[in-house]
Amino acid sequence: AKQNGRNRYCFFTAEIEALTVRRMQVVSALRHALEQHQLTIHYQPQFSARDGRIIGAEALLRWHHPLLGQVSPEEFIPAAEDSGLIVTIGEWVLRRAVRQMKAWLDEGMAPFVLAVNLSTVQFRHPNLPAMVATILAEEQLPPQYLELELTESGAMHDPPAAIAVMDQLHEHGVRMAIDDFGIAYSSLSYLKKFKVYKLKIDQSFVRDISADPEDRAIVTAIIAMARGLGLRTIAEGVETQAQLEFLREHGCDEIQGYYYSKPLTAEQFGRFVHEVEPC
Ligand code: C2E
Ligand code: CA
Ligand code: CA
Ligand code: CA
Repeated sequence: AKQNGRNRYCFFTAEIEALTVRRMQVVSALRHALEQHQLTIHYQPQFSARDGRIIGAEALLRWHHPLLGQVSPEEFIPAAEDSGLIVTIGEWVLRRAVRQMKAWLDEGMAPFVLAVNLSTVQFRHPNLPAMVATILAEEQLPPQYLELELTESGAMHDPPAAIAVMDQLHEHGVRMAIDDFGIAYSSLSYLKKFKVYKLKIDQSFVRDISADPEDRAIVTAIIAMARGLGLRTIAEGVETQAQLEFLREHGCDEIQGYYYSKPLTAEQFGRFVHEVEPC
């Protein structure tokens, strides 16, 4: 038994070591990802639940490394946060996405709102509101076209600080959405004080909405509460007609998910918009 325990110990140590090595590889490769043009942005359309029109798009970062291949943001975003690289990368994403949005509007594309993810690390950076304002001004995009997504846990980490940052962003005319809503046990009294425009219902509740009565109850409650607070709701991870119908019937405002479209390259997105809404 003793021998066995020791083997298990060795096994776990080896596993942890492998994970640490991988994380170090990812971080050191990520350092050069920007200058070597390995990062791109995909855009996933967001639809009005009422009439199916495109009313938004979420910018989602993609990384292709020549040796590591396609690395998931679920892996490299946390690595970028730990190493501090997220500040530079996040600023690059914001500028690129804002520039793309400006180009689409200039081409005459029907207006919609562009959502960009903010890491908690970026959100805590004292220069964030000024950085956002500078990029909008330099790229000449009116602020009402930009929405910033912050996770619920990010907002709840230090609510008074979050209130202050959201107030500043609001003054710049930028909208905020709370991402992954429903999993971080928000203090509802804070929700009232956040200058937030939209709640993004976490995918985990949407996934089993057709089968799980508890998930249905949670989603229904989030939508009702958002209504009461004057907030919009968007459901993410919508993959089926049944999910869409439940959400629509219960008054969810917006829909995002594979049911309509996966995230697309900028070029694919342009074509998609033309197919859905020919001018
Ligand atoms: P998120 O912000 O919650 O983004 C939603 C994720 O769900 C995306 O994964 C999207 O591709 C995926 N998704 C969309 N529709 C469906 C669907 O119908 N079914 C399923 N199963 N999934 C769907 P992705 O692109 O892999 O991104 C994962 C996470 O990485 C994001 O979660 C976000 O937290 C982070 N991330 C991605 N891009 C950025 C970025 O530019 N900045 C920061 N800070 N985080 C980012
Ligand atoms: Ca998001
Ligand atoms: Ca989300
Ligand atoms: Ca997520």
